[in-house]
Order: sequence, then structure tokens, then C-alpha cells
Amino acid sequence: MNTTTIQRIDTLIIGAGLSGIYAASRLAEQNRSFVLLEARNRIGGRILCPQYEGYGCDLGPSWYWPEIHPTMARLVDTLNLKGYRQFENGFGRYQQHSGAVHTIRGYGSEPASWRIVGGMMALVTRLCERVLRDTIRLNHPVCGIERRSDGIRVTVGELEKAPWAEFLAQQVVLALPPRLTAATILFTPDLPDHLAQAMLKTSTWMAGQAKFYALYETPFWRDAGLSGQAFSEHGPLGEIHDGSNHVTAPYGLTGFVGMPAAQRNQQPCLNQAIREQLADLFGWAAATPTRLFYQDWARESFTATAYDQPPLRAHPDYRPPAGQSAIWDGRVHFAGTETADQHGGYLEGALRAAERAINNLQSK
Ligand SMILES: Cc1cc2nc3c(=O)[nH]c(=O)nc-3n(C[C@H](O)[C@H](O)[C@H](O)COP(=O)(O)OP(=O)(O)OC[C@H]3O[C@@H](n4cnc5c(N)ncnc54)[C@H](O)[C@@H]3O)c2cc1C
Repeated sequence: MNTTTIQRIDTLIIGAGLSGIYAASRLAEQNRSFVLLEARNRIGGRILCPQYEGYGCDLGPSWYWPEIHPTMARLVDTLNLKGYRQFENGFGRYQQHSGAVHTIRGYGSEPASWRIVGGMMALVTRLCERVLRDTIRLNHPVCGIERRSDGIRVTVGELEKAPWAEFLAQQVVLALPPRLTAATILFTPDLPDHLAQAMLKTSTWMAGQAKFYALYETPFWRDAGLSGQAFSEHGPLGEIHDGSNHVTAPYGLTGFVGMPAAQRNQQPCLNQAIREQLADLFGWAAATPTRLFYQDWARESFTATAYDQPPLRAHPDYRPPAGQSAIWDGRVHFAGTETADQHGGYLEGALRAAERAINNLQSK
């Protein structure tokens, strides 16, 4: 027997990544009633920063670009967070397919890349301080969204099983990638084919990537005149940058695994290969980090689908799916960075899409 009671709420936000949390903070500012449902047992979505001695290691996004991402720059200021320039002084390394390593001229990012003191998670944690704790429900994977005459019924749990929880909302904000939404949530009535297809065809930015973070007590590469920047055609790592704390230890090297998701299935061997490659590029001290963190986003079922496994060759031109920023007479709104009108894929896009959704909600 199904004993779940249906919880009535004005606005329901689905997804506690930056977009969903920002939307929640905007609704809290307006004293509006809402609940935010998050499938994982943590907030942040693609923002993920395991801690080491108080330093958050960005295994998702590391950078923002204040010159071209004004919403992010403003938010960092408003939240009293501090940004710092990506360290880029010194020579870079380039590794050929054969494994041979060359020292190359370093170059500065243009526009300048900035990191956040404490890691990108600081952004989400600060925003959360503006939101009442019990409005965020972790471990709440949404599996069904149904249009009814008295509102939008949202079901939490696993498809075809008894629901864990049910909500009846007047409005819903979908703050998760549209491809994931179309692939994992059942809509009743069916979404129009062209919209469902557009959602499935919207690649989730960086969902096929894997990132590592190696921490050290000293920045030995800087002492050798190296910036920490490296590019490799040899692998397993493809791109490396300095990922050090603001002014003090820990110091770090971080970056992306270059091999496709399907080949990244032997993690212990991969960890060993990462250490060996770091040593080839930066010297023997690089082989023994105090901590090595690794995150494979392609294996995260609340980020990536089977369609996201092949690596993306270029940054997609994101926009709301099929040009629609809302469906069902403005009762269900798209947020999430992949639905942004501008800067989609980036943190900036996540904020802008959330802002649009909140502005378009019907007032009570
Ligand atoms: C490795 C990597 C590096 C990146 N580097 C940068 C960078 O340097 N700069 C930059 O600007 N951007 C970067 N990005 C992109 C950036 O991370 C995203 O733009 C941003 O985090 C997206 O936020 P979002 O809230 O739109 O989506 P997400 O963070 O994906 O949030 C969606 C949330 O929905 C939840 N969810 C999923 N399914 C359900 C469900 N059924 N029910 C309830 N909840 C659900 C998820 O668990 C998640 O918490 C990077 C991304 C990755 C992975």
C-alpha cells in the first residue's frame, strides 16, 4: 500500500548545483516558499572540492573569468569571497606522443583565469547560508513530473517503484542538465517529440571528463622555473595546471585525464600512471603527492548519461531547449547552465539561467 503523503509547496527547485542553489537563494531573498530536491547526498552538483587541511581541491570547475563573466564576478564580491589569479609564471612542458618531454614558453590565459580562495565550493556554501536548512532535501532523486489540474506532481524515488516522497507544486524549476532530465525523468503528459529530442541532443558540458588533483608540501616545479602548465599527447593526463592554494601550502598540480571515458576503468593502474607521468613532466618529487584526488564525471549517474561518454570536441552553442525557457503554460521552467541564453556550460551560464527562471516565475 502506498502511504506517501503529498507535500504541497509553491515552488519546487530540482537540482542543488550552482544554478539550483542560486535560484533558492534568490527565492529566499524574496521570502517565497520553496523546496529544493537534490538526488545526491551532497550539494554542489558539478562543483566538488574534497578538503585537505582546509583547502578545497576543485575536481569540477576551478576558474571564472571576471572580465567576461560579470554575474560570477559580482556574486564573488557580494558573498565576500576572494578570487586569485591562476598561477602561470614560468616555463611550460609539452609531452609528445612518444613520451619525450620538452620545455616550452609559458603563456598567460586570455582573458585571465581566476580561482576562488577555499575552492569553488565556497560559492555554494556561502549561498546556502542564505537558505533555510530544511528547504534543501538531499537524497531526493526526482523520477516523475506530472501536470495535473491542481498543480505539478513531482515524484521522488526510482522509476516504477513506490515513491519515497511526492510533492504538489504550483511551479517547478528544473536546475539540472536537459539531457539528464529527458533521459531520467518521466513526464506526463509526454513532452513534445521535438523538445525531448532537443533536450537529449544538448550535451552536458564536461560530463565526459575526469580530473585529478595532486597535492604537495612545496611548489618544487615553481622553484625549477616551471609554471605547472603542461600539455601531453602521451597520456594519461592531457592538460595540467598549477592548482595551489592562495598564498600558502598545500601546493598542487591539477588537470584533465586525456583518455576517453571507456578506457578509464582501471583506477589503481590509472593512479600509478598519473604519478609516473607527473614525474616525467615535473621531476621525481611529483611522483609522491601527499594526496591524490581523482573524479570521473562520466561515471556519475546524476551528471552524465551514456550519450556523454565520448569527449566533446568543441564548446556547444547552448540555448534553451527548442528555444523554450518554460513549458506547460509557464509552470515548469528550465534553469541549469546548458539552458542559458549566454555563457552556457559555464558557471556564469548556471547563474544566468537561474536568474531567468526566477524572474519568469509567476508571483503568487
Ligand atoms: C571537470 C569540470 C571542469 C569544469 N570547469 C569549469 C570552469 O573552470 N569554469 C566554469 O565556469 N565551468 C566549468 N565547468 C562547468 C560547471 O561546473 C557548470 O557550468 C556548473 O557547475 C553547472 O551547474 P548547474 O547547477 O547548471 O548543473 P549541475 O552542477 O550539474 O547541477 C545539477 C544538480 O542536479 C542534481 N540532479 C540530477 N538529477 C537529479 C534528479 N533526478 N533529481 C534531483 N536532482 C538531480 C545533480 O545531482 C546536481 O546536483 C566544469 C565542469 C566540470 C565537470
